[in-house]
Amino acid sequence: MAIEERPRERAEQRPGLEINKRLLKQCVHCGLCLDACPTYRLLGVEMDSPRGRIYQVRMVYENKISADDPHFREHIYACLDCRACETACSSGVQYGKIIEAARAATPPPSKAERTIGRAVLNTLFTSNAALDAVGLAMRAYQKSGLQTLIRRSGLLKVLPGGLDSLEAMMPPLQGGIAKVRIPPVVPAIGEQRARVAFLSGCVMSQFMGETNAATVRVLAANGCEVVTPPDQKCCGALHAHTGDRASAQTLARQNIEAFERTSPDAIIVNAAGCGSAMKEYGHLLEDDPAWAERAAGFSRKVKDVSEFLAQLGLRTETLGAVRERVTYQDACHLVHGQGVRNQPRELLRAIPGLELVEMKESDTCCGSAGIYNLTHPQYASQILEWKIDNIQATGVNALVVSNPGCTFQILSGARKRGMPLRVFHLVDLLDRAYRAGRMAASNGRHEVSGARRTGDEPR
Ligand code: SF4
Ligand code: SF4
Repeated sequence: MAIEERPRERAEQRPGLEINKRLLKQCVHCGLCLDACPTYRLLGVEMDSPRGRIYQVRMVYENKISADDPHFREHIYACLDCRACETACSSGVQYGKIIEAARAATPPPSKAERTIGRAVLNTLFTSNAALDAVGLAMRAYQKSGLQTLIRRSGLLKVLPGGLDSLEAMMPPLQGGIAKVRIPPVVPAIGEQRARVAFLSGCVMSQFMGETNAATVRVLAANGCEVVTPPDQKCCGALHAHTGDRASAQTLARQNIEAFERTSPDAIIVNAAGCGSAMKEYGHLLEDDPAWAERAAGFSRKVKDVSEFLAQLGLRTETLGAVRERVTYQDACHLVHGQGVRNQPRELLRAIPGLELVEMKESDTCCGSAGIYNLTHPQYASQILEWKIDNIQATGVNALVVSNPGCTFQILSGARKRGMPLRVFHLVDLLDRAYRAGRMAASNGRHEVSGARRTGDEPR
């Protein structure tokens, strides 16, 4: 007997809300997710919990409230989109898809959020040339000494629009005034085990170029030929998180084309938020018949660098010692968005001389959450305070985290508290270990540092 193929469920249209009802029905209102939710812990309000937000989206779906209801908007945009509730939920609720559909149905409540969301993200993050221009200006401002002069002059305090607090959040940028260039193709060292394509990213390539270069070196040291497509774009994560689905889809299509041309075995990402978004291109384009299959195929190849190296098998014989005591912060979109928890720890433990000290609530958000620290600075700084308390309680002064937003947010929290904290990306430490291995092999004994620290930025 022929089995009748079930038509694929499609998202249903409600005024302003495009979502599959199945996603909403999965929530059984058990409340298991409440303690995991930073905004519920902070505000103690059911409507700012995962369960409460899902309930409100369902009310919109059933036309009981409007997506433009100001209270609905407030609660939906007060969410960090950290997805800790997904990990806590035993019913398999896909909260990330629900919140992104809700945000696509209604713009942010405040003018500041709309300006950042629509104007900045749409003009800046959709154009490589615009990103390069802004990146250059920011690096020049910081590296030329102008930032030090302006901070000392007190000029920022008399400028309008809270410019001083915005400027104070500017992260310490890696490298010099010029952007760190990544060669389009880097050959594998030793026997080739894979050909990979690398997402250099918008924020990563402008502000953390040395970590990008370290990522490529570590992949090559592990037998990978690394191709970095020059025509790649921003991954679109920030657009999707702020409800701008159309821009996220456009960027996804451009990236699929750029990466397909390289025919890689895997697409490697070193920023948790970008990796999580790219693994969801299949979902983002599932209703576009011309792109659905290509997007799903693309997403299957996306791997966080730690996930990929753990799966490939790290070459440990050439690792040298890195004498550090570190703690590890699980980036939300790595641990909750991608389910990558053990692999970074396995890789850290493989480094000779390195000691990993676990931190309480390592998988709780630091408050960065894309642009949340700009749109909700008060909530973000309270959540950051909890994180800094937990780091401080470990007694170590070095942190490993694999996402640029978390790096900048935690550094700013440590700086505010006067805490001497160094922050590494996982690949910074692996790269340092391979360099130490090479030096040991040639009897050199130099120490190499790849950390970003609270004192790095000009004062
Ligand atoms: S999201 Fe999951 S854990 Fe939270 S109330 Fe619904 S079913 Fe329970
Ligand atoms: S994504 Fe994070 S902040 Fe939003 S409801 Fe879930 S746990 Fe709470």
